[in-house]
Amino acid sequence: MTDTLSSDFPSTREEAQLRLEAFLSAADGYAAKRNHVVPGHPHVSRLSPATRTRLLLETEICEAARERFSPHEIEKFEQEVWWRLYWKGWLEQRPSVWTRYREDLAELEWSERAEQVAAGESGVAILDLFAKELVETGYLHNHARMWWAAFWIHVEKLPWQLGADFFFRHLLDGDAASNTLSWRWVAGLHTKGKSYLVRRSNLEKYVDSDLLSVHEDGLSRLEGTAAIELPFVEHPEIVKVTETPLPETLPARTGIWIHDEDLRVEDSPLAGTSPAAIGTFAPLDLWENEGYPEKKRRFLLSALRDGATRAEKHFGVLSAFEESDVWIDALVSWSRRNGLEALLTMKPMVGPLADRWHEAEQELDRSGTRLIGLLRDHDVAVFSKATAGFFGFWKKTASLRC
Ligand SMILES: Cc1cc2nc3c(=O)[nH]c(=O)nc-3n(C[C@H](O)[C@H](O)[C@H](O)COP(=O)(O)OP(=O)(O)OC[C@H]3O[C@@H](n4cnc5c(N)ncnc54)[C@H](O)[C@@H]3O)c2cc1C
Repeated sequence: MTDTLSSDFPSTREEAQLRLEAFLSAADGYAAKRNHVVPGHPHVSRLSPATRTRLLLETEICEAARERFSPHEIEKFEQEVWWRLYWKGWLEQRPSVWTRYREDLAELEWSERAEQVAAGESGVAILDLFAKELVETGYLHNHARMWWAAFWIHVEKLPWQLGADFFFRHLLDGDAASNTLSWRWVAGLHTKGKSYLVRRSNLEKYVDSDLLSVHEDGLSRLEGTAAIELPFVEHPEIVKVTETPLPETLPARTGIWIHDEDLRVEDSPLAGTSPAAIGTFAPLDLWENEGYPEKKRRFLLSALRDGATRAEKHFGVLSAFEESDVWIDALVSWSRRNGLEALLTMKPMVGPLADRWHEAEQELDRSGTRLIGLLRDHDVAVFSKATAGFFGFWKKTASLRC
């Protein structure tokens, strides 16, 4: 039943490039059609799992778009791509928002009702279809995400953190910044006095009419709902994101560690180095702790393999590929076996992998390897502009766009 909504998601760079090309060839209607939820999701790119893992960089997507369209024609699409950078920059500069969310989550219990709604048994048929689509496919259209989150928070009055966790686990594009901050935005915690509500009339306008006509049950619950008011907590002080320069001299035994947060190593500050060894690690214990389902693990494994293959080609060095139950141990013993004195990687941004950074750094240090995490200059420059709302960010980043 949900097959009608699902579609496959590129898990290699080549597939993602093909998807981008196909999407751009019909993207002139994006601004007008992108909000419509239609089976197969033909009006949006469905590239988010590829951007989340950086099989494709945001800058590459926008450059390809600008080759076909004028800035004005493609502005809406570019803005959506830059929403991702905005959220990344916003959270990177306020990491305690993530920490607080994870602490809240650890304190919360799943109620029977929360389980029911997440299982697609709320009684509002179209939203139940979306819950099932998410679990079956690992994707939801942006508008469906907004409605579903608003339903969870403002109609069902369930804790936003549990809903965010449900999304984060199942979304192939599950991203600490985009997901947590979008949920906070719907809940009214991002912009003071502004929350997002789900309305029957909005679904009637934007959901494919054939689809909605067979999923009409329960729609009346979406009439006349008011926003619940959660206590607004002022945003924490900004922590400046600083560039980590590549050391001028690196030991001969320097390696590269590849992870699923950034699979475009051959176009990164690491690109000009000469690694003695490359190691790609699938952190099965981390994925298990996060509760990633099989489909998401398969996607990540395929993306990791693709990243490793491209790195091998670029550096002319074979990559070890380990699916490890205790990933930090595997990283350390691989590093030790290769006699590495330094290990370079793209620094993971705020999220589950970054939460383990210090531990990995210490363990490696104990075995004589210095862990060095690098950021792209462009990210650092862009992130520093995510100080307030999106439209201010959009204006301030004009000179940083292609
Ligand atoms: C409650 C909620 C949770 C979300 N969780 C995530 C998440 O975990 N990961 C994630 O990548 N996006 C998340 N989003 C944002 C957005 O829904 C998805 O990025 C988008 O639906 C992806 O589909 P697409 O690639 O077809 O988008 P397109 O419309 O084709 O957009 C192109 C690209 O722009 C980026 N993008 C588009 N819209 C947004 C947005 N609103 N915020 C941030 N980036 C955007 C994505 O990288 C996307 O691939 C969430 C939104 C909501 C409301």
